Amino acid sequence: MTTREPGIVIVGAGQAGVQAAESLRDAGFTGPLTIIGDEPELPYQRPPLSKEYLAGKLPYGELALRADRFYADRDIDLIVGRRVVGLDRARRRVTLDDDSELPYSHLVLATGTRPRSLPLPGCGLAGVISLRTRAEADELRRRLGEARNVVVIGAGFIGLEFAAACRAVGLSPVVLDIAEQVMGRAVSAPTAAHFAQRHQELGTRLLMGTAPVELIGLDRRVTGVRTADGVTIPADLVVTGIGVLPNVELATLAGLESENGIVVDDRLATADPHISAIGDCAAFPAPHGDLRNAPQGAPHGAPDAGGRRIRLESVQNAADQARCLAARLTGAPRPYDALPWFWSYQGDLRLQIAGLSTGHDRTAVLGDDKGKGFSVLCFRDSALIAVESVNRPADHMAARRLLAADIEVTFDDVAEPGFSLRGHLARATDSERRTPA
Ligand SMILES: Cc1cc2nc3c(=O)[nH]c(=O)nc-3n(C[C@H](O)[C@H](O)[C@H](O)COP(=O)(O)OP(=O)(O)OC[C@H]3O[C@@H](n4cnc5c(N)ncnc54)[C@H](O)[C@@H]3O)c2cc1C
Repeated sequence: MTTREPGIVIVGAGQAGVQAAESLRDAGFTGPLTIIGDEPELPYQRPPLSKEYLAGKLPYGELALRADRFYADRDIDLIVGRRVVGLDRARRRVTLDDDSELPYSHLVLATGTRPRSLPLPGCGLAGVISLRTRAEADELRRRLGEARNVVVIGAGFIGLEFAAACRAVGLSPVVLDIAEQVMGRAVSAPTAAHFAQRHQELGTRLLMGTAPVELIGLDRRVTGVRTADGVTIPADLVVTGIGVLPNVELATLAGLESENGIVVDDRLATADPHISAIGDCAAFPAPHGDLRNAPQGAPHGAPDAGGRRIRLESVQNAADQARCLAARLTGAPRPYDALPWFWSYQGDLRLQIAGLSTGHDRTAVLGDDKGKGFSVLCFRDSALIAVESVNRPADHMAARRLLAADIEVTFDDVAEPGFSLRGHLARATDSERRTPA
């Protein structure tokens, strides 16, 4: 047991936890600051695991979120390879899996998510793998070198990014999903249709509306995936990407509320004034737009059943929530209202999303969705709520600024000849400059 002076303790050494520590020091917090992570290594970025790192284009050394010396330079005590297993709110202490205890003045839960496991017979066979950690990415890299038949279960962002990585090494993966549309409800129908077509043109076999029912094996190794229509698809490697579950157990065991994520208010505080939650694990009030009618399973996360809160799974959300929390803990509280944005790179398609398209009722396409570059503008009740750009980074940047500044874009504006998001933004900001306050 330690007798350390209590300081801020962060559970989870991922994007949110590391950013929170950095932002706390940047904002002048000088007290003890500890990050505890259960993975055995220096905190790293996850997005490259299904992209450059998987493809062998990014070395391990460049995967780290911050260099080794960052933690010592900022006087941040980084404890890796240790799991927090207990939370005593009354005594304000956490217990680690080596039975040591750590007191806190404020506790930040940044515990992220874990892959949803496949509830099917045979899911424990060798060669059935999910993709969340660096260790899993390494195993997949190794297996990709030997695999002949790859099946991806789940046509979400990670499943499709993995399919693109398979094609890059000469494999023709089969991707199956129970849904009819790729990337679920996270993108609009035009964007989904374009991605489905391009993946198929490049050699992926897409089986949408197809339910896997069993994984078949021989000598404990996977050999195939049997579908509900009785077909067995040969497979020596099966990657599952069927979504994630938020790591809420530490919070709920200590009596904190969870509803598809640790429940926080618009300042990212739980009901306990000494505990906050940020990043993939936090369910927070939807700041941009009314999501009451939003379906479950929406953009990179999901609203809760009543639509009052959302949980987002993105680097932007993890980093911006960390900054917002650090500001509150150092005396500058503000509500969390950052505009969500996201990216996914799949082969030659670079998708960038600004805003949340949940519940959109109309779309307009800029550019050529038969060609390679276009943007889909998503409207709800005549208001622009999200823009999905494919190989159009300038549209994405303009969309982020338009949506964040709440600059009106109507369907009629978009129908004007020569309309561009950049032009619209320039006109709006120019007229704002000319209008005297
Ligand atoms: C393969 C992949 C590709 C992705 N691609 C993109 C992308 O292109 N764009 C994008 O915006 N986002 C992408 N994401 C999502 C993005 O990486 C996450 O949203 C982000 O990492 C969330 O950060 P976090 O800190 O909230 O959670 P995490 O990164 O999950 O970190 C949480 C950490 O806490 C640890 N932990 C949990 N419980 C405990 C405990 N009790 N004690 C100690 N440690 C604990 C976990 O092991 C983990 O290391 C991708 C994710 C994956 C897996």
